[in-house]
Amino acid sequence: MNSNQQIPKIIPIVPIKNKVLLPGLVLRFQVGRKDTVQLMQKIYRATDNRESKHIVGCIPLKPPPVSENDDVAVNKSSSTLPFNPLSSNSKKVTENKNVNDSSSLSLTQPSDLHHFGCAARIVRLEKTVGGGFMAVVEGIVRIRVDSYVKLEPYLEAEITSFPEPVLPKDDQELQDLAISLKSTGRELLSMLQDLKLPTPLLTQLQKFIDGAAAGPLADLLISTLESTYEEKLHILDAVELKTRMLRAIDLLTRQIHILKISQKIHSTVEGKLSKKQREFYLRQQMAAIKDELGERDDSSTEDDDVTDLAKRLKEAGLSPEAEKAAQRELKRIKRMHPTQAEYQVVRTYLEWLSEIPWSKFTSDILDIEKARQQLDDDHYGLQTVKKRVLEYLAVLKLKEDMKGPILCLLGPPGVGKTSLGKSIANALGRKFHRISLGGVRDEAEIRGHRRTYIGAMPGLIAQALRRVAVSNPVILLDEIDKVGHLSNHGDPSAALLEVLDPEQNNSFNDHYLNVPLDLSKVLFIATANNVDSITAPLLDRMELISLPGYTFDEKINIAQRHLLPKQIASHGLGPGHVKISDEIMLKIASGYTREAGVRSLEREIAGVCRSKAVEYADAKDKSNVEKYNGEIELGDLERILGVEKYEDEVAERASKPGVVTGLAWTSSGSGGILFIEATQMAGKGNLQLTGKLGEVIKESAQIALSWVRTHAYHLGITTTSTESLYFSERDIHIHFPAGAINKDGPSAGVALATALVSLFTHKRVQPTTAMTGEITLRGQVLSVGGIKEKVIAAHRAGIKRVILPVGNRKDVQGDVPERIRKDIEFVYAKNVFEVLSSAFEGQQVWIGPIVEMESR
Ligand code: ADP
Repeated sequence: MNSNQQIPKIIPIVPIKNKVLLPGLVLRFQVGRKDTVQLMQKIYRATDNRESKHIVGCIPLKPPPVSENDDVAVNKSSSTLPFNPLSSNSKKVTENKNVNDSSSLSLTQPSDLHHFGCAARIVRLEKTVGGGFMAVVEGIVRIRVDSYVKLEPYLEAEITSFPEPVLPKDDQELQDLAISLKSTGRELLSMLQDLKLPTPLLTQLQKFIDGAAAGPLADLLISTLESTYEEKLHILDAVELKTRMLRAIDLLTRQIHILKISQKIHSTVEGKLSKKQREFYLRQQMAAIKDELGERDDSSTEDDDVTDLAKRLKEAGLSPEAEKAAQRELKRIKRMHPTQAEYQVVRTYLEWLSEIPWSKFTSDILDIEKARQQLDDDHYGLQTVKKRVLEYLAVLKLKEDMKGPILCLLGPPGVGKTSLGKSIANALGRKFHRISLGGVRDEAEIRGHRRTYIGAMPGLIAQALRRVAVSNPVILLDEIDKVGHLSNHGDPSAALLEVLDPEQNNSFNDHYLNVPLDLSKVLFIATANNVDSITAPLLDRMELISLPGYTFDEKINIAQRHLLPKQIASHGLGPGHVKISDEIMLKIASGYTREAGVRSLEREIAGVCRSKAVEYADAKDKSNVEKYNGEIELGDLERILGVEKYEDEVAERASKPGVVTGLAWTSSGSGGILFIEATQMAGKGNLQLTGKLGEVIKESAQIALSWVRTHAYHLGITTTSTESLYFSERDIHIHFPAGAINKDGPSAGVALATALVSLFTHKRVQPTTAMTGEITLRGQVLSVGGIKEKVIAAHRAGIKRVILPVGNRKDVQGDVPERIRKDIEFVYAKNVFEVLSSAFEGQQVWIGPIVEMESR
């Protein structure tokens, strides 16, 4: 940087847009204009990409008319920002990408160019990807263009250069001005430092002030600190030292003023503002800044948002309480800024309020004949259930309220509880929603969390209403027996009680919504697998309708009428594309499924349809559809569904001493048969029990053993009535296979006693004979639950004879389908003796009179 360097009289001209190069400063810019590119190419070739000594004249373009140029907007915006006194060219190297922008390929006209400029040395020149150049130039000396001597291929001009004047020592006025310039510069810098702007540049400038000559100092300060394009041009034009210093001092002083004022405003305002207000004030400022920069994202969004919410709330027809809450929250949200965390919370709440169907209803179709038709169309059999449902609907029609008991469909999985609920909704013309209660442990899941919780949500009931968008749907409370109660998260079953209580449920309180919800128009239907695990108060609210499971006969009918057509359609096939005869269907049901319901059966049928769909599509591709055959043959089954999974449970089992078939009722509500195996070995009189047994069933085993030991002589086990050695020198092990399934309950008592007698006496029981019943120590047989499910399961398993407690006779006659009663022989026993007589089919089981038992 040497202002005394010889500058040629005629030099090439580089027009510069938007920036002003001053002596002593460095500027970097892209070159894209056609004329300048040609100039740079020439220089580039001449210098062979090394540092060049080439001198060019950097002449700024004249500032465009204020109105329509975006550059002006940039300048304007930067000058209005009070806290950004350093302009973007805040380094000695100033960067300017738009200079000589490639956007304009036309030649520059001399008339577009300013009069003054700066002679500069090209410090670096690099080719850019687009075919242009990136140039770094260092300003040397002010120049004035006297005339342009060449316009093409690039401009060349005759110039006068103005080497930097030396400050005359004897000119007091100029000396004073120089001192004034320095102190003003220092003051501004120290104010900037107070603002703690993170820039090492300030320190550099500070050092520079002390040593610099007045002229270059003015240039440096003005180009580095905040100033507009015009102001910079003004300094460029000030060849004379005095004028330049005066203009610089003027600009710096103005800057100091602006800073002072904004600091003052800042501190007074700050003092008065609370934290909240300050946040608001800063946000306003941020919005103003964004506005200036044109970055403001649609400024009216949040207004629109709230107005929109208010409109939706109005349309929602809120209840008076909800209306009050909505108004209160609307008022709050209007005062908030959308970026506040609370804003979103309130907004979500209002959204929920607006989406609860406060006053939306569907109108009921209360046509009993139509309902009957619908139920019959959707489900095969289930006569008692359908009858009860129709009665319920009839009462509903006459009474026009829902204050009856809640229907609870009770039965094992897959017997059609859910689909029955759906078809009730269809019959009534109501919307349907299923809430799965399995595993609900937390009261808040039913009732929602209070809004003070982070991430609070309304409960399942409110969610269901929002989903169906009407306030009189049919809601199926699925698996109500699986809902937890009395945990440390409140009592969900108590919350359900409130939901189901007709006296209370017109004002159900969801903790999140916190306004009463009217559930009195909702038709609730519950389902359960197991009546034992429903809490007593809930049970009290409900009327149980039992769906015990299907016989094979019923399964085949259900499959042919409903499951198969449904699966055919859902696999994109047409009627007749899959044909399964009853015989094959029975094979599928018995060989591939073992269940009370028809869910697995439906899955297996789907498997068959899938396989047929492939065949059909294949045939279609090969254009020989006429060869396709939808009929399923017995031989196809293994290919399609794999090897049979289940064999006939009992038919092939050989009878063995110590093994007895019991009837069980699993926790999922389905019945099943269960084998009890007893064995003995030399030992010390211990009893070992295995097979995942609960306390009650273990006690049953103890009771059975005690009873057998008591009557060992009369049962023909010991030879004298006083013999004690027999049991003390052997251990007994009883096992219940299917060892992974939990088993409990008293109903295996008779089977246990029979198994022990069989073991000790070597008498066998036919595997097709099954039994259930509780025993007392004295040998009485007490009635047990779940008879219908057990008998149906026994029938499926191929049992021919069932031994039951006398007390259960009424269950067989009342509940068990006629068809099954025809297939199975029922034997009713009062005591263990009668059980044994029947089990061993007339073989002698007792020696001597049976005095003791009969006396009871
Ligand atoms: P659950 O709710 O009792 O577990 P689902 O209602 O899910 O059982 O029934 C399983 C499948 O069996 C459904 O596709 C259902 O339509 C069908 N289904 C069950 N019972 C019958 C029936 N009696 N008639 C026709 N389809 C039935």
